[in-house]
Amino acid sequence: MYRGIAASPGIVIGPVFVLEEEDFIIQKRKIDDEKSEIFRFRKALNKTKQEMVHTKKKALQRLGKKHARLFDAYLLILDDTMLREDTVEMIAKEKVSAEYALHQVMENVLLFFEEIDDEYFKERGQDIYNVGRKVLRHLLGRERITLNQLESQVIVVAHNLTPSDTIAMREEKVIGFATDIGGKTSHVAIMAHSLEIPAVVGLRDITRNIKDGDMIILDGNQGIVIINPDTSTLENYYREQQIFLAEEKDLEKLKDFPAVTLDGHKINLIANIEVPEEIKSVLSHGASGIGLYRTEYLYMNRKDFPSEEEQYESYKAVAKNMLPYSVTIRTLDLGGDKFSQQFKLAPERNPFLGLRAIRFCLKYPDIFKTQLRAILRASVKGKLKIMYPMISGIEELRQANKILEEVKDDLRRKKIDFDNDIEVGVMIEVPSAALVVDILVQESDFLSIGTNDLIQYLLAVDRVNENVTHLYEPLHLSILRLLKEIIQTGKKSRSGVAMCGEMAADPAVTMILLGLGLREFSMSAISIPKVKRIIRSIKIEETKQLADEILSLSDNEEIKKVLRKRGIRI
Ligand code: PEP
Ligand code: MG
Repeated sequence: MYRGIAASPGIVIGPVFVLEEEDFIIQKRKIDDEKSEIFRFRKALNKTKQEMVHTKKKALQRLGKKHARLFDAYLLILDDTMLREDTVEMIAKEKVSAEYALHQVMENVLLFFEEIDDEYFKERGQDIYNVGRKVLRHLLGRERITLNQLESQVIVVAHNLTPSDTIAMREEKVIGFATDIGGKTSHVAIMAHSLEIPAVVGLRDITRNIKDGDMIILDGNQGIVIINPDTSTLENYYREQQIFLAEEKDLEKLKDFPAVTLDGHKINLIANIEVPEEIKSVLSHGASGIGLYRTEYLYMNRKDFPSEEEQYESYKAVAKNMLPYSVTIRTLDLGGDKFSQQFKLAPERNPFLGLRAIRFCLKYPDIFKTQLRAILRASVKGKLKIMYPMISGIEELRQANKILEEVKDDLRRKKIDFDNDIEVGVMIEVPSAALVVDILVQESDFLSIGTNDLIQYLLAVDRVNENVTHLYEPLHLSILRLLKEIIQTGKKSRSGVAMCGEMAADPAVTMILLGLGLREFSMSAISIPKVKRIIRSIKIEETKQLADEILSLSDNEEIKKVLRKRGIRI
């Protein structure tokens, strides 16, 4: 039995499909005909070159000359003697296959640059290696095996998955997945939750002990995976599965009941979505709006950028289908653990602290403007709001708002309609922003607390790293104190305060959040009924008492004890 982190609820039983990492274990292979091997190598170089020229053209259109220069650098690397001549020489001299020779050369280059005590050169070594990988892929004639090759229902097991892998699952035959790495609030886990795919992450070495076709039980409620279970375990789990499904059915009945406390306080329960297709589930789970639309998923699993028109169509569809409710569209939050294929930027050493979200948009204003135009145009089709991610202080908010004003002016000049009063909000997910909420509210219409990142940044715990999951503690006193501060300060202004991080979806902390003053909770649609059930069973006064009691304690074990005493499972 493997214990990992319960990432997305549900129990599934089925055969395993092991999704391989993109590894390049290349055996030494002797060849007889070095001329044709060199020819094969040159052909692969040319193919890579064509591919890059094509990507460069796209970059030119989208990003302008300055940023397209990156591809010039890559093209130069392709022509450089280091990769080209050294590989040819090795094939000729040692009579080895092109892939083996190239791989050896790549490793040597990497080692050489690694030894230079200069970050710049280390990065150039990595660039050369990355270009080499592209050529290698052509030589090996392979792409990473993808999920769309699946023929029957499977549970995917992988060392790691990207959020884009997860999103690809929705159209494929994946009934659940398990990974070696990852944390509860990684986007892979969040995505699985939204798509209602049971998942367990952070299993450490499961991929080493499993093979295609093995039968497994995946328990996304407890974070357990059992490989090739015996009959009695299977029977137990089939029973558990039935109980789980029955409980889900029971919760469905809450759909048409209001989210009101016993003493009559109305709480707003709204949904987080990643793709417009989720709207059906949003409505069927009784959400009264969308508090977070993670638009970056529009940018994934594709080779180009979504055009303004394409974005407009998506935002319009969401806006229309959600009427009379409002939809908060979060502007692009790429970076961290979410990447797009269009930007083959050099990997960052600390991506969560790197060029992410609003920082990326401010660096590439054309991409940002395209999105803002699409949102503004769609704003006349329903009730849309705009929200910026990863704002760290007033300067970034002003820069983003300035760009928004430019886009609005442009639309006015062109006599294109948009909602003049569209509300603009800020995600509070960076501690520095949390500490200047009083200033941010003066230049924004609403706040939404992103606890997934706020916890990661405040406690210095990588949200996707399974080795530090035990330190990722939403009930840390520092978090609770800061949440209180954000909510209370926000409430003093005219701004609304919502929460859209995973904490909002956790029924174990619903009472505390209510006690701290939160009245708007945004979460994956399937979590709504569980939170609603709690809301309908308590009085605000008792939540306030609980929050006060908890804030007077000094460590999270004591906090958990108090919650357990109240019958809360934590
Ligand atoms: C958050 O950080 O809490 C959040 C809602 O945004 P994301 O999970 O997409 O980073
Ligand atoms: Mg975030």
